[in-house]
Amino acid sequence: MRIDLHTHSRASDGTQSPADLVGAAVSAGIDVLALTDHDTADGWDEAAEAAVAAGITLVRGMEISTRHAGGRGVHLLAYLPDPTYPPLLAELTRVLGGRDARVPEMVQRLRECGIDIDIADVRRVAGAATATGRPHVADALVGLGAVRDREEAFARYLAAGRPAYVDRYATSLAEMVGIVSAAGGVAVVAHPWGRHERTTLDESALGELADLGLAGIEVDHQDHGPAERRALRAIARNLGLVATGSSDHHGAGKAGHDLGCNTTDPDEFARLMELAAASAERSGRAAPELVTGA
Ligand code: AMP
Ligand code: ZN
Ligand code: FE
Ligand code: FE
Repeated sequence: MRIDLHTHSRASDGTQSPADLVGAAVSAGIDVLALTDHDTADGWDEAAEAAVAAGITLVRGMEISTRHAGGRGVHLLAYLPDPTYPPLLAELTRVLGGRDARVPEMVQRLRECGIDIDIADVRRVAGAATATGRPHVADALVGLGAVRDREEAFARYLAAGRPAYVDRYATSLAEMVGIVSAAGGVAVVAHPWGRHERTTLDESALGELADLGLAGIEVDHQDHGPAERRALRAIARNLGLVATGSSDHHGAGKAGHDLGCNTTDPDEFARLMELAAASAERSGRAAPELVTGA
């Protein structure tokens, strides 16, 4: 049983359509796949149809942009929330608005760096994506021959502290943990120690989030080394949190994140789904269920 709980499609910054992503998951021997695009559920229907046809299980999820008290960006995976729950919808709309609003500013800064880039270059590579992100700006830069790949685009221009970096709105992490629960879903902190110093989300901060209803933490992720994984697994155990593992696959957009490169233990997944069922029940919302193919 191979379970991959964190992947992206072209609804955000992945490079595959939701249906192609499901097809790739089948080829990679994945039995349970979660689609977790940034800040949108727009890939869900296409992925669900493909999962039914392909005979694999789909967990409908998203990866929500939040900000921890200290100001650090934290990605929060939300599984099976009712995406029509008004407070969730309102926050996602605000986050997506912030994503769109910063594109012209990033383009302007790149122009000040001497690159002849236009908003239309970004819009073209973003295609029908609901959530535009820095990876789309990166793809536009690749298309213009300004950089080799997304990695170089982030390193030179787009990462925090680089010249074209522009901050954007994100919901408070604590608030979003509550919203996801009230929407009948379960929340799991994505790559808690990826690209951050581990002091941001230490055991005490994760404990406070657990008290607010956090269900789990993503332990096995490519941004975590062996020592970090061991420490995070111990924290999950201490706090009674589910420990997940996943690829954070972005199609061709992110090297080293092949589908199934990390997976979630079936017992941990079962526990997460029990928590989701309890959350759906408590919320009184029509939360989505697992989609299971024949
Ligand atoms: P944004 O959503 O606009 O804040 O961009 C963040 C996304 O960019 C992350 O979810 C990653 O998928 C991607 N990303 C961040 N850093 C890099 C990098 N160095 N190379 C490629 N993709 C990256
Ligand atoms: Zn991404
Ligand atoms: Fe992330
Ligand atoms: Fe991700």
